[in-house]
Amino acid sequence: MAGMSDLFDAHPYQDRYPVQRGLPEQGRPKAEILAELREMAALENQAWETGQCSGTMYCGDLDHYAFLTEAFGLFAHQNALQRDMCPSATRFEGEIIAMALDLMHANAIEGTEPAGLVTSGGTGSILQAMLSYRDHARATRGITMPNIVKPETAHPAFVKAAHLFGLELRVVPVDPATTLVDPAAMAARIDENTIAIIGSAGNYPYGTIDPIADLSDLALARGVGLHVDGCLGGFILPFGEELGYAVPPFDFRLPGVTSISADTHKYGYGLKGTSSLLFRDKALRNAAYFYVLDWSGGKYFSPGMEGSRSDGLLASAWASLVATGRAGYRAHAQEIFATCAAMVDVVREHPQLRLVGSPTFVFAFTSDDFDIYHVADRMKTRGWRFNGLQYPDGLHLAVTRPQTRDGVVDRFRTDLADAVAYAQEQTGSAESTAIYGGIPGGLTADVSTFIESVMEQIMDAHQSVPAPR
Ligand SMILES: *Cc1c(COP(=O)(O)O)cnc(C)c1O
Repeated sequence: MAGMSDLFDAHPYQDRYPVQRGLPEQGRPKAEILAELREMAALENQAWETGQCSGTMYCGDLDHYAFLTEAFGLFAHQNALQRDMCPSATRFEGEIIAMALDLMHANAIEGTEPAGLVTSGGTGSILQAMLSYRDHARATRGITMPNIVKPETAHPAFVKAAHLFGLELRVVPVDPATTLVDPAAMAARIDENTIAIIGSAGNYPYGTIDPIADLSDLALARGVGLHVDGCLGGFILPFGEELGYAVPPFDFRLPGVTSISADTHKYGYGLKGTSSLLFRDKALRNAAYFYVLDWSGGKYFSPGMEGSRSDGLLASAWASLVATGRAGYRAHAQEIFATCAAMVDVVREHPQLRLVGSPTFVFAFTSDDFDIYHVADRMKTRGWRFNGLQYPDGLHLAVTRPQTRDGVVDRFRTDLADAVAYAQEQTGSAESTAIYGGIPGGLTADVSTFIESVMEQIMDAHQSVPAPR
């Protein structure tokens, strides 16, 4: 098998800049360091500024990034754990939670007090939610062998939560045509040890929205929690709904929805490193608190899994929300939904391609005629970066603001036509394959016995300095 290091160059800077193999005795001049960093950032921005990368740079507006970075810089050195010294963290966190709750219609909540947390990202929100369900269910229902039930399409962060927190994970298959989970199939997997069921709005592979209203009824009938994963869709679907797109209800207006994750660092257009986790009932938020009272270092409390964290992240997430505003989010959503529809029309021009599920701001497609990864291979040579899917093999593009720029849809039309023609001629196997976050080639994803060694290679490559030569 090809080593990961053959698949892309992990060290493109080794000839350009000095390689640091240990802490330098004398510090380098700051101006020189900043010049290097500016050069690297400019090079890396070239990869997505074309509008040809799925997801990742949700905003893509360098002025907005500069504004957020200024907000970050003012508070980056402050510790959000020390609220006596930085009450700004309280203003930012409280208002981020209030704004996210408002967006998720927490005003519809009756009988409980809604609350939230700001976490380190989508995974942080999902892990914290599952930990809260576990500890709350242990305290209130005496559950010691907890399980969670998720549609197959729900994010691997739920698998990670099960792994880390000793939860049994029950996975329910989805309908291959609609990609949605069948509530009756979810119901069949719930038992007296179920702490929460999960639905996505929308899921990562297809961007489709599970039947959350039915899952809400199910959660209420069976007395279990319902976490809605709005990490991806939380800050765009509400505006799609306002614009008249067919967005089924998925938020706190549904009485069975007990928690929602919505990432400020995706369609909230914030810097990487924040997400909101929202609870219908403060009791679940309170289960996230951790404390040690008898430590020599003093009585220790932390809200959630993290210890010290930068107030700068809170400041920049807050700044993104208040600078964009509802009107800004709505305008960006309008362009994104319209661009997605235009790109979907381009896919429909090719009878050899088949859309999977009904597109929202994400569209996914496969082919029944050829290996779709040949399309990815060819598109890659034109600068396109799709995300690879499997079961069935497919490609998706999460449409973001860089795609809404002039000319991107036309380039997509030209390059896709060329890639389909190319794919039809291929007889061998494709190079690209399905890896989350990108589609490097040369791996056989099914060969699970190799995965651990592949991960070691990836980590070695990502965390190494180049070999001397
Ligand atoms: C991105 C994503 C996550 C995980 O978020 P991270 O910020 O990468 O940790 C969870 N769920 C969905 C649907 C996502 O798209």
